[in-house]
Amino acid sequence: MYDVIVVGARCAGSPTAMLLARAGLRVLLVDRVTFPRDTFRNHAILSPGTLSLTSWGLLDTVIASNCPPVRTVTFDFGDGPLVERLDSREDGVDAIYMPRRYVLDEILVNAAITAGAEFRPAFTVTGLVWEHGRVAGIEGRSGGRTFTERASVVVGADGHRSVVGRAVEAPVVREHPVVTFGYYSYFSGVPVGGVEGWMTPETSLHLMFPTNDDLTCVAIQGPSSGYAAFKADIAAGFDAYLDQVSVVADRVRAGRREERWLGTGDLPNVVRQASGPGWALVGDAGCVKDPAPAHGISDAFRDAQSLSDALCAGLAPGADLDAALADYARVRDEEALPSFEAAVAAASLALPPEVYEMRAAMRAQLA
Ligand SMILES: Cc1cc2nc3c(=O)[nH]c(=O)nc-3n(C[C@H](O)[C@H](O)[C@H](O)COP(=O)(O)OP(=O)(O)OC[C@H]3O[C@@H](n4cnc5c(N)ncnc54)[C@H](O)[C@@H]3O)c2cc1C
Repeated sequence: MYDVIVVGARCAGSPTAMLLARAGLRVLLVDRVTFPRDTFRNHAILSPGTLSLTSWGLLDTVIASNCPPVRTVTFDFGDGPLVERLDSREDGVDAIYMPRRYVLDEILVNAAITAGAEFRPAFTVTGLVWEHGRVAGIEGRSGGRTFTERASVVVGADGHRSVVGRAVEAPVVREHPVVTFGYYSYFSGVPVGGVEGWMTPETSLHLMFPTNDDLTCVAIQGPSSGYAAFKADIAAGFDAYLDQVSVVADRVRAGRREERWLGTGDLPNVVRQASGPGWALVGDAGCVKDPAPAHGISDAFRDAQSLSDALCAGLAPGADLDAALADYARVRDEEALPSFEAAVAAASLALPPEVYEMRAAMRAQLA
């Protein structure tokens, strides 16, 4: 019998397991894959996520993976480039990092194991155990055998197709149709000065940033109406996107693509209720949204912290676990819904006039 079982061991699940284990709880962490393992998810960690990694003592390990620091973020929304120097930020984050997911997720899993969580890779959760109307454990299979494990709380950190979320029939709190599709790959010979982004309004978002192995990630996003045509001929589609921004095109064409294209038109926008009797959802399992503003990893870290705080209180002797779970759901909504709306708005690739006014004012200030 565990205090908590966490299903899914990436950005949401491993930090949840780590924080609970650090607090002395008995934690089982499972994932259907083994690590290190890449995933089709991009990996720009913005400053809230960087602050989480710092507070958990993990940022140095990310830095030690030879992931280059990003000290400037430059965006051109058709009004000329505007450079943000991170050392001018008030939150104290003077550099952010964009580690490959096979690097980041392994660091997170190892941190959970070091904290004392029991980790079972290659373990697929197939269903939940119910007792007296509440979730009381998981059913799963691994190595050709089936298993049943019990816990006071089961946490679904199993991504946007969450088995846990489906099994508990977590109600949808907010939903928005798919807005964009996205593709990215990794290039050598494309030097990049921090994060560089270009938006051609209502048409495309181009992003380049440095990552591990001396590679530059080049990503594009476009309206979902263009997905089928892009997918039918990715090379031609990418060329057409590059041609929209000549400064990107020249630099990318001078480099070499080192890995296959990764892409999808399946970028849903759904918020689900974050907890119920004996269960909770963190990360994409509870709130999946368009990746345009790159909030997903930071938000998964935030959920991990909020839920572990709530469970440490709720699992204390004599405490009211259901009240703690309800508290988590309330806090998660307060934190996640603004981020969700911001993601949907950013995904429209059409910025309101205030953004351009603010950028003009910042440019004037810098001049
Ligand atoms: C194209 C794209 C680009 C993105 N770019 C960025 C970005 O630049 N910056 C950013 O912050 N965010 C980005 N995001 C969002 C970010 O990647 C996600 O928000 C983040 O990965 C969510 O982490 P998670 O742990 O909740 O889920 P996931 O990363 O999906 O991990 C879920 C884990 O659960 C496991 N699992 C699933 N089902 C089971 C089961 N039945 N049994 C056991 N294990 C199971 C899976 O194997 C997986 O390891 C992007 C997303 C996409 C799709």
